[in-house]
Formats: sequence, C-alpha cells, structure tokens
Amino acid sequence: MPLRQPRDSTIAVVGAGFGPLFVYATAAYLGFAPEEVTIYGPSPSPVGTYQQFAYNLGQTVLRSESESHFLPADWPTFAQLDAWSRKSPAPLYRSVTRKYNPGVPEILSEAGVVARRLNWDGSRVPRRVGWLQRDDGPPAHFVLYDEDAKLIGRAKHVMLALGHGPLQFPPALARAKADDPEIDERIVQAYAPKAYHPAGRYIVIGSGIASINEWANALDAGAKVVALRRSEAPDEQDLNVPRCLFEALGIDVFQGLSFDERVAFLGKVLRGTSPKRRSWQERVEHGRAEGRFEEVIGEIDQVERGPAGLRVHIMSRKGEDPGWVDVTGVVAGTGFVKSALALPLLRRLVEFYDIPVADGRIKLKVNCGVPGLDRPDSRLCMMGLTANSVIPHGDTIAGLKYIGRRFVGDCYRADPPKPRRFPGRLSMQISLAHDSAKAIRRVRRTEQLA
Ligand SMILES: Cc1cc2nc3c(=O)[nH]c(=O)nc-3n(C[C@H](O)[C@H](O)[C@H](O)COP(=O)(O)OP(=O)(O)OC[C@H]3O[C@@H](n4cnc5c(N)ncnc54)[C@H](O)[C@@H]3O)c2cc1C
Repeated sequence: MPLRQPRDSTIAVVGAGFGPLFVYATAAYLGFAPEEVTIYGPSPSPVGTYQQFAYNLGQTVLRSESESHFLPADWPTFAQLDAWSRKSPAPLYRSVTRKYNPGVPEILSEAGVVARRLNWDGSRVPRRVGWLQRDDGPPAHFVLYDEDAKLIGRAKHVMLALGHGPLQFPPALARAKADDPEIDERIVQAYAPKAYHPAGRYIVIGSGIASINEWANALDAGAKVVALRRSEAPDEQDLNVPRCLFEALGIDVFQGLSFDERVAFLGKVLRGTSPKRRSWQERVEHGRAEGRFEEVIGEIDQVERGPAGLRVHIMSRKGEDPGWVDVTGVVAGTGFVKSALALPLLRRLVEFYDIPVADGRIKLKVNCGVPGLDRPDSRLCMMGLTANSVIPHGDTIAGLKYIGRRFVGDCYRADPPKPRRFPGRLSMQISLAHDSAKAIRRVRRTEQLA
C-alpha cells in the first residue's frame, strides 16, 4: 500500500520509474530504513512507464547487456542469474562474446522481485511533485508540494528522476496532426500503441532501434514499409553511446571536459541505435525480396488526406525530391523532446531559482547536482535523460545505476544510517538473487536476437 500522509525522510526521489528503484535498493543495501526513503510518483510499479513503451514498440530483449539489472550489488550479473535459473551455460557463452541481451520479461521479473521484497510501494507517495522549495534550515532540506500546491513531504536530499519529456513529431507532421483529426489518427509515434493493416503501406521515419522494430512489426503483419530517413543510416552501434563511455574511466574523461565541450561531444556520439540483429535482418531481406520494403532518403514537408488515407510529400535536401507518396499511415521513430524545459517541474525550478540552462540542458555539476540548489549536506540531483550531459549513458539501466549509487553514497556520508554490515548485505543480495532466479524460471525464455 502506498503512503497516505506526507512524511519527513532523509532521501526523497521524485519519479517512480527505473531510476528510483536503484536509489531505493541501494539505500536499503547500505542500511537506510524504508521510512528514511520516500518515492513520489503516480506509477504503482517502477517498471510501469518503461513496460508500456516497450510493449508498444514490441521490444523483446534489452539492447544493453548483462550488467543491466536491478539487484543492489553487481554480482551475479544477469547472464549468470539467467544461466543459474535455467541450468544452461548458453547465457554465459553469449555474455563472454558480448552477444547476451537480457529478455524484457526476465528483467522486468527481476525488477518486480526487488521492488516487492524491499516494499518499494510502501515508501511511495502516489502524487506528482509540482514544486520543490529549498529551506536553508538548519538543517538544510527541501519541502515538496504536489501539483495542487499541497504539502506532501520534506527531505534532506532529493533526486529528480522524471524520465522523458513528451514524444516529438517532425514539424510538418505535428502541424497536420493538430489541424485534422483524421490525419491525426494515422500518424503515430513508434512508442505509442498501434496496429498495422496487412494490406496497408506505411512510412516509418528514422533508422534507430525504434524504427527498425517497427519495420519488422509492419512486415510481420503483412504490410508494406517505406523506411524514410533524413541521411545515411547511423553507424552500427548497439548502445546509445560508444561502449567506453559506459565505463568509469570513460565517464571520468568525459567529466573532465567543460560543459560546452561535453555537449558538443554528445552531439557527435549520441545517435539513434541501429543494431544488426539476426532476425530483423532476415525479416527486412524477406520483405525487400517480396517488394514490401523500400528505403527513401528525405523529409516529409506536406501532409494531406489521400485515397489510401494519407498523401505525403517527401523533399530531399541533397537531390531530386522523391515527391508525393500515398500511404495508410506514418510511424515516427523520432523519440522524445529532449529539452529539460519540456518537463513542467524542471521548467518551474529553472525559472524560479534561475538555474543555468544551455541548449535545453540544465548545466549540472559533475556530480549531477543542480547548480545553486545542491549542497553536500542537502543534495539535489538529477538522473536519467536529463543528466546525460554529465553521464552520457544516463538514460540507460547502467547509467541510472551509476548515478543512483553515487547519490546514495553521498547521502550516506552526509547522514549516515545505522549501517548494514557485510554479512547483512551479502545475505540480502543472495536472497534477492535467489528469488529473482525463481521468478525468471517461471518466464518463457526470450529468444536472443544478436
Ligand atoms: C522503449 C524503450 C526501450 C529502452 N530500452 C533500453 C535498453 O534496452 N537498455 C537500457 O539500458 N535502457 C533502455 N531504455 C532506457 C531506460 O532504461 C529507460 O528510459 C528508463 O525507464 C528511465 O528510467 P527513469 O526512472 O529515468 O524514468 P521512467 O522509467 O521514464 O519513469 C519516470 C517516472 O517519473 C514520473 N514522473 C514524472 N514527473 C513527475 C513528477 N513531477 N512527480 C512525480 N513523478 C513524476 C512518471 O510518471 C514516471 O513514472 C529504454 C527506454 C525505452 C523508452
């Protein structure tokens, strides 16, 4: 049962997704009692937001690897846990060759076990946070209000884990959707619910992982696909950023750059992921051979109703325009609005506290602290996509874990709880791993795609 009353806690996390689960599990592992940590957010499950997107996309395996899991300590890795659960060495072989990607149902089962066993929901206030007030104390702390300006708690340290902004569409499509409800229905995001008609023809915009998923989904349904992208496909890369940036040394080097240098660097390395997956390639090749898959380079600049549902005009910046195309619908794999200002709570904080922002990114300190509000004895930090100017893979399971652990470590030093000693931590980790293995065993094994 979530909490009904406001409460004072040492640590508060705003948001109720993957990120807060890492903060909560790490805090429990180090010795913070459940009442010392409060989660604020409407989602009754830490996997709810991600699960909905993954379902809409038809994602079956993570693009990240074995380190991406939810136990408080690193060992066992997910491949080891999977191998143990199914009594099969296959996940270990794959992991050694970097060809192991945890299955979505398996990873969500593990997250569910960790949340249930540590009673994550029992520390949750089921409200969205609308405002945060810095109070210099002593002791320094934050006061949290909901979106109706009602007091919902106070905390010494706060982590903002708000997830993504709204989904975004290219301007011509956004305009057409706003102007005509019939057109609106036929233009959807890859992350939104959708169904393909077997006799339909669909434009799928983009060449990242979401778009490739949709090529496969549409071809599987029997439909035709026009894969539209602005330029040549991104280089093959299974993760959001080069692998070296996932590791401590790479992160240290990245953090040694100035904010502007970091943003410029991210502009170069962050790209949509277009991994080569065996089954996707087969499906696309098959579709191409049947005349159901074609690739076009260009951008949609006009949309109107047409005999098949939509008529769209595609222009090219490089050569002759591909021209008008009749299609049943358009799927945009264009992702989320990346500006931090698209999140109402952040926009209010930026405006009221005059927090520096550049290029839609809050100029976070290298410890992910919010400038002007964060201090060692009362931290205010951000994690997830909004922290990727400091931790380039901030919006991955590995990145959330990295930021969450360091934040809890700082809270531990500022306000030490009665520590959980090594034997207690070990038994907690083993017992959570044991229950996760049992839960994974009950899930049908997900096919690996690499
Ligand atoms: C389709 C998809 C596939 C992905 N695949 C992978 C992968 O394979 N590997 C990988 O490592 N990562 C992957 N990711 C990235 C990453 O793991 C997720 O984005 C992760 O869910 C981010 O967690 P989060 O806690 O930051 O935000 P979310 O899980 O998005 O949760 C944000 C939560 O905050 C709440 N919230 C927002 N504002 C407020 C407020 N003001 N007050 C209270 N609550 C608020 C929301 O309601 C929501 O519950 C994927 C993401 C998506 C969308």
